[in-house]
Amino acid sequence: MAAGAGEILQLIRSGRATTRTEVLEATGLSRVTVAQRMDALVAGGVIRAAGDAGATGGRRAERFVFDPTDSLVLVAALELGEGELAVVDPHGALLARASLAVDLAAGPDAVVPQVLDGFDTLLVDLGIKPDAVGGVAISVPGPVDPDSHRLSDPPVMPGWGAWPVVEAVRERFDVPVHLENDADAMAYGEFTELGARREGRPQPFVLVKVSEFLGAGLVIDGRTYRGTDGGAGDIGHIDVGGDAVCRCGRRGCLAAEAGGAALLRRLGEAGADVGSLAELRALAERGDPLVTAELDRAAGLIGRVLAVVVGVLNPADLVVAGELAVPTVIAGIRAGIYTGAQPRATARLRIRPAVLGPDAVLIGLARVVVDDRFSAEAVDARLG
Ligand SMILES: [Zn+2]
Repeated sequence: MAAGAGEILQLIRSGRATTRTEVLEATGLSRVTVAQRMDALVAGGVIRAAGDAGATGGRRAERFVFDPTDSLVLVAALELGEGELAVVDPHGALLARASLAVDLAAGPDAVVPQVLDGFDTLLVDLGIKPDAVGGVAISVPGPVDPDSHRLSDPPVMPGWGAWPVVEAVRERFDVPVHLENDADAMAYGEFTELGARREGRPQPFVLVKVSEFLGAGLVIDGRTYRGTDGGAGDIGHIDVGGDAVCRCGRRGCLAAEAGGAALLRRLGEAGADVGSLAELRALAERGDPLVTAELDRAAGLIGRVLAVVVGVLNPADLVVAGELAVPTVIAGIRAGIYTGAQPRATARLRIRPAVLGPDAVLIGLARVVVDDRFSAEAVDARLG
């Protein structure tokens, strides 16, 4: 293979080759070319020498690691009533974080400046200059158009449709800015966590977020799959034949029957005193029969919809994330998928809970920025 500096960086980042000799063996390039390209990566502040990898054939072998300069990432995970902000280093470590009370329904003119001020405060607290920031990523609970990078007719975020969030952030931070659907960001984070431990061709990956709302994120061929206008994975508004009116205005949506908000409403109507998803989760963990029955019903409905997703995409992994990803919900989703999908589509399917925990969206957002900034193509373009 004719590996440029960008391809060599991918070998070093993944740990497949970390010395000049290993890169030479992996690429088939000449010793001189390997040295030139690795020197360019060092001079560009992308990799650095990290000591001796041990003697090989009597020669000292220097090991190189991915450790880019000026590549801190600012991330914000926005939900309807709250936001989590963080400064993340290029390896994914959260250096500082803050919670922000936001009201997405108040519109982007109110919320976006609040987020930008929150970023400024975090940087000041850390004593970091804004020019150390290499990228910004913000997630929203709505579909994002992959061409315009703006929200695409968001059912729960009035006033945000087509509003230029990316451009507004760039006025404050002149770096690449990503606007992501929250389930997509989570999916990318969980997928890359898995990919770090796996070789070979990336398999289709599905993440379903079970929280106040329902959504799915898809990663196909190692990239977030957004669909034509950002609507891919928007399973919450698929008609499952119920009577409940959805926030989108239609009747029968999966979210209106099986989303967290719907579960709280249904439990209230049944006389249960459950005020929040945290309480609902706690009752589920204690085995409360009414809560368990409602969660089983919801998980069955979600599983039947996911059976179609599994039948279409034949993924290798389906990860269940979100505040309501409790064991009974994961079991119910698994049962719904097995009932609804062909055995061929589920034979090698792994259904499991998310592993990144409550910071999954923040970590996923940071990886979106870093993987984009340090893709082989982007690095070759920057180093010329
Ligand atoms: Zn709907």
